[in-house]
Amino acid sequence: MTRTIVLATGNAGKVREFSGLLEGLNLQVRPQSDYAVPEADETGLSFIENAILKARNAALHTGLPAMADDSGLEVDALQGAPGIHSARYAGPGRGDAANNDKLLAALRDTPWAQRSARFSCVIAYLRHAEDPTPLIAQGSWEGIILTEARGDQGFGYDPLFWVPSHECSSAELDPVTKNALSHRGQAMRALLAQLQQRH
Ligand code: IMP
Repeated sequence: MTRTIVLATGNAGKVREFSGLLEGLNLQVRPQSDYAVPEADETGLSFIENAILKARNAALHTGLPAMADDSGLEVDALQGAPGIHSARYAGPGRGDAANNDKLLAALRDTPWAQRSARFSCVIAYLRHAEDPTPLIAQGSWEGIILTEARGDQGFGYDPLFWVPSHECSSAELDPVTKNALSHRGQAMRALLAQLQQRH
């Protein structure tokens, strides 16, 4: 039987990646925009808290099981910033280009050896809005922040994220390779393993 799960994100880049990751499974994943779910208040102080808040909000407004990811970029030279504020680093509604410009400016005087960073992702899955035992899965992906943008695939900070193992930015990776390596791909595979055990 095909199960419908609502995906608690409005981010088109994430919806694309999730669709690729869940292809071929007996799951119908529908974005929360299909159900006019209002945005959740992301008041948590960690990716885990915000992922649960977003999934719970989607489950509450749809009556369906819900999955949410909360993710971001942690830059060591910036003490972990932008972290949970990654989507709005340059200010609400400013978008990816402004976020990337702000990051480049913040690291203008930082040498290559100190530009280490990682993408982190937490995915929460709730069977219903009052699920007392959400499933939680995490992934992280190490890289280095470039001094200028490269590539036009992916979304967000991908053009500035150097992937040492592949000697390119994550915006130069094809979508299948990015999913195989990325924080979101790792977290999704861990979540699917948990889902298979539970059901
Ligand atoms: P969220 O919707 O609050 O989880 O925001 C996550 C933000 O982190 C995104 O808007 C991007 O700026 C950044 N981010 C997360 N994952 C990625 C990725 O795979 N590539 C590039 N940027 C990412």
